Amino acid sequence: MNFGQYFLKNLAIAAAVVGILTIAAPAASAFNTVIIDAGHGGHDRGADHSLVYEKHLNLDVARRLERALTGLGYKVVMIRRDDRFVPLDKRAAIANRYRNAVFVSIHFNSSWKGQVTGIETFYKSATGRTLATHIQGELMRSIRTENRGVKTANFVVLKKTRHPAVLVEGGFVSNRTERNAMMDPRYRQAVVDGIVRGLMKYDRRR
Ligand SMILES: [Zn+2]
Repeated sequence: MNFGQYFLKNLAIAAAVVGILTIAAPAASAFNTVIIDAGHGGHDRGADHSLVYEKHLNLDVARRLERALTGLGYKVVMIRRDDRFVPLDKRAAIANRYRNAVFVSIHFNSSWKGQVTGIETFYKSATGRTLATHIQGELMRSIRTENRGVKTANFVVLKKTRHPAVLVEGGFVSNRTERNAMMDPRYRQAVVDGIVRGLMKYDRRR
């Protein structure tokens, strides 16, 4: 075999290997750590209506999510675990200390139009989009409401976090029906169940 044939043979092998890897690798990644970001906190209430504060809903969902994921064997990092303000840059900086992680920011929505309802999931990066798609899909299986879809956004925590990152808006505090639903722990647990199933679909080890 002359050099040309040798080169072509190896090129063919390399191409075959790349082809196999491309087919074998799904659009998902392996991670062992979930960074949970309960939105707002302290002086920053987030959305509020009729004494229902978004910051409290976010923290409750974050704690429930921590419990569920720890039970499944994931390592969990909580950006906050009490009612305190953490600047957005700091949230991303904390997240970036970890490896093999995904980042999930928990929020509830608000609109000046009281009739607006539904759940939506934001992302910035391509990996974030895949994760957002899984989570949004599973949230829609958990909760019967309008599917507002997955959307891209330049939120600081999505932009500055170097992990697949999503921001979940789990319903509208400004809508009376959804606000009443959020007051029920079963609704908040349903949000958690959807996020957990979405994360597990994204985790290619499972
Ligand atoms: Zn918020």
